[in-house]
Amino acid sequence: MFKTKVNFFAILITFNFGISQIKASKTAIWEPVPKKVDAYSFSKAPSDATILFDGKSFSKWVGQYSNKVPKWKINEDGSMTVINGTGGIKTKESYGSVQLHIEWKTNENTENSEEQNRSNSGVFLQQNYEIQILDSYENPTYVNGQAGSVYKQHIPLVNSSKKPGEWQSYDIIFNAPVFENKNLLKPGYFTVFQNGVLIQNHVEIKGTTTNVGSPSYEPHGKLPLVLQDHPKTPVSFRNIWIRKITN
Ligand code: MG
Repeated sequence: MFKTKVNFFAILITFNFGISQIKASKTAIWEPVPKKVDAYSFSKAPSDATILFDGKSFSKWVGQYSNKVPKWKINEDGSMTVINGTGGIKTKESYGSVQLHIEWKTNENTENSEEQNRSNSGVFLQQNYEIQILDSYENPTYVNGQAGSVYKQHIPLVNSSKKPGEWQSYDIIFNAPVFENKNLLKPGYFTVFQNGVLIQNHVEIKGTTTNVGSPSYEPHGKLPLVLQDHPKTPVSFRNIWIRKITN
């Protein structure tokens, strides 16, 4: 009897996952594929930036849901690596509009992983609006979900992704959405450079980036920055700094 129940729930979960995958595929766009561009440079923190990660501690971060010290790993080279299954991490401080610099590296081991499973993470501004992090070097996937996409909303202008195992950078200008009396007064906007190359040019954010269905806005104030824990090959980060933009 017990065994029958377990099997029933396993089938139900598999069925629901299948349905969710079918729904998610409806918003996946595959063409045209962004042109490939080779890129090289990084930038150092200017004097007025807040250093969010200096390679030594998680003092500016907590677990996304636990609110405790993150369980990700700090490496000897001053980077940190996602420990899959421990959850995302978020800044202790909440932010409005910002300029953000973040360096990230996808995993050299690409065996048995492809598309969205190959070194997936994400930078979530105000914990709702994702700039996708993914190994997009010779790893075709739906283009509104490749590295540098505003997830399922805006395809990057070009693909300036580096090879797995090489450090890359995002420089993100995020204009936060403005709400008044619980209504959207002004949408948010993203401008993004990947490895110094413009990939998003002041694009309008259509709402919370979602895998299933259409995006929509939920009114909110300042919120933390979140880095995603997504299975199944971990991404590393280093040199993260932020500057508040005061409108
Ligand atoms: Mg992601």
